[in-house]
Amino acid sequence: MSDCLFCKIIAGEIPSNKVYEDDLCYAFYDIDPQAPTHFLVIPKAHIQSVSAVTEENAPVVGHIFAVIAKLAGELGLESYRVVSNIGAQAGQSVFHLHFHVLSGRDMTWPPG
Ligand code: 5GP
Ligand code: ZN
Repeated sequence: MSDCLFCKIIAGEIPSNKVYEDDLCYAFYDIDPQAPTHFLVIPKAHIQSVSAVTEENAPVVGHIFAVIAKLAGELGLESYRVVSNIGAQAGQSVFHLHFHVLSGRDMTWPPG
């Protein structure tokens, strides 16, 4: 999608601090980290949010979770939180599916 911030990051039109990349997904550090480790994992295909996941595009979500587990292991994250905000009221500000991976500090439940 031409006017999507994360599609521009995937295309390299906007610089980012890359953690990992493969044919299906891209991982990069959040520009405004909310924990000592905070990166985002996104599908290369534009999907608006979890609300736009279907049986057809769902395999990339499973792949992203396998990538998250691999990266967490490589980065030595023993405890971490994976978050996806869906819709503005839940805190979504970029409407390209992304999973936040946060680690390195105590976290509260329920989230705010
Ligand atoms: P959301 O608020 O939609 O759940 O998450 C979007 C995330 O993208 C936010 O945590 C925000 O800090 C991050 N973000 C927004 N613009 C940029 C950017 O240009 N580069 C990077 N690396 N992260 C961004
Ligand atoms: Zn996009």
